[in-house]
Amino acid sequence: MATRAADLLGVVHARPGVTRAEATRVVGMGTGAAAEVVARLVHDRLLGETPAPPSGSRGRPTTLLAAHPQGPLVLAAEITHAAWRVRAVELGGGVLAAEQGEHGSTTWESVRAEVAAAAQALRRSYDGRVRALGVAVPGPVSAALRADAVSLGWRDVDLRRLWPEAPVLVAGNDATLAAAAESRRGAAADASVVLHLRVEAGLGGAVVDHGVPLSGATGAAGEFGHMPFGDPAVACPCGAAGCWGTAVDGTALARLLGRTAPRDHVAYARRLIRGAVPGSPERDAVEAVAAALGRGTAGLVNGIDADVVTLAGLGVDLLDAAPRELGAAYRAGLMAYRRQSPPPLVPAALGEDGPVVGAADQAWASLVSTLA
Ligand SMILES: [Zn+2]
Repeated sequence: MATRAADLLGVVHARPGVTRAEATRVVGMGTGAAAEVVARLVHDRLLGETPAPPSGSRGRPTTLLAAHPQGPLVLAAEITHAAWRVRAVELGGGVLAAEQGEHGSTTWESVRAEVAAAAQALRRSYDGRVRALGVAVPGPVSAALRADAVSLGWRDVDLRRLWPEAPVLVAGNDATLAAAAESRRGAAADASVVLHLRVEAGLGGAVVDHGVPLSGATGAAGEFGHMPFGDPAVACPCGAAGCWGTAVDGTALARLLGRTAPRDHVAYARRLIRGAVPGSPERDAVEAVAAALGRGTAGLVNGIDADVVTLAGLGVDLLDAAPRELGAAYRAGLMAYRRQSPPPLVPAALGEDGPVVGAADQAWASLVSTLA
């Protein structure tokens, strides 16, 4: 597709309901050329155009651009340590349908079969309109779409098998996709350098530098939970000792309380953080874990010079439950000159939807460049 038409679809995806006049200005087209390109995209059912309500100002009336009601769709899938979901998403991010489930077994074959069946069902119900799949997984993804996920026991699985004939299939680490979505349309939309941290089973994250996520040489950047900010006596499932992730998640809370962490230690941590009453051993453990999160975050902010930190997963629960302890440890770990105006720690605006929204955005970005 002509670049300008693809650019125009990209603008409408980022800002559904944008006026034609504004989209034209952003893309840098003349009014006549824009009318022609829009007419062709509407004719090809790639774009919907409706009259704008009267603005009261002078000038010719414009139109509003959004998804075509019969236009192409992407599927966005997210696989977590415990569950999966698949959404059918139109241009602009609107969710038309969704399927979800919990893992019966966490083996790749079992999860693959469930997600592939859900994707196939959604493709059938939209009869040829689904043109791409984006996948978020809890671990690094290589350029060849092979993934590792420590929390699921997956090593070098082939994500293409989720939809072998997919016209477009893209995949990424869940935290990286969420970070990109936060910087595009979430809590970090005005930031230059975003540090996104997601505490779930361990801790993952991403850095987005002026809109571009740092992916690393092998797609494995952002494994901040495996920096040695934790107790060197604690072994991590990754094979290293003293990983930060083991100091901030449900396993850390259980260890501090002298208990054994249950299999779903994310749900365990969430219950414990929300229910801890002041003065209880649970509350002390929550405060210690919040401080460990704050201290490590300061180290990262010192190192990468982020101007905002977005927190997701259990990071939000810890920020809600123990803001003083988390904030004090964060400020104490910052270099003095940063303390006058510390980069804010804020909950991710997209919340738990960050990875799946990011997967849809990535699928749309790839699809738009292939549409004819
Ligand atoms: Zn580790």
